[in-house]
Amino acid sequence: MNTPVGQLYIVSAPSGAGKSSLLNALRGRVQGLVVSVSTTTRQPRPGEQDGVHYHFTTAEIFRQQVAGGDFLEYAQVFDNYYGTSRLSVNALLASGKDVILEIDWQGAQQVRERAGNAISIFILPPSVDALRERLCGRGQDSEETIQRRMRDAQSEMSHYAEYDYIVINDAFESALEELACIFRSERLKLVRQQQHHKALLDALVG
Ligand code: 5GP
Repeated sequence: MNTPVGQLYIVSAPSGAGKSSLLNALRGRVQGLVVSVSTTTRQPRPGEQDGVHYHFTTAEIFRQQVAGGDFLEYAQVFDNYYGTSRLSVNALLASGKDVILEIDWQGAQQVRERAGNAISIFILPPSVDALRERLCGRGQDSEETIQRRMRDAQSEMSHYAEYDYIVINDAFESALEELACIFRSERLKLVRQQQHHKALLDALVG
């Protein structure tokens, strides 16, 4: 029997919405999910490991990969480039895994054009004040830096209506459960159930 192919998901959020923590916890709650590791030209932050959080690379190599058609999508986000490897996503989907792309709205638009059946989710903060508080970090940043982060977040959030699902991260645990519900219900859709339970469905209807 052929392995059923996995489903492609896009998850976007402004920074400060808690996307990474939610996705980390989600993998413990819903089996068979993988988050794709993107390639980026930005410098690693403390604690980030090459090949785990990102594939860190140079602008030169990134350009070559773009020219070679290696990316399913790529975009400039703030001052750096980010891209999703077409080969690695296709291999994961072919192995039956559901794949999450943690990408911005520009990448999301490209994936929707190229992989028509991708399901997209936007995570939002519960209020402007909560967002501001989360973007203030440890309180060591200037008002100007915080203003810039707020503007960047608003620009990302202005695309929320392009997504299939909206999750508001007010209380972490409920947002996590809402996210898990999306993945669980998508797996119960007719086409996916037909892939996973073909023999049973055939036997039941004789
Ligand atoms: P950070 O540098 O803070 O890890 O990520 C900055 C932004 O880049 C986030 O909005 C994140 O979703 C986005 N991003 C990360 N990887 C990719 C990618 O492969 N493609 C696109 N289009 N955006 C990405």
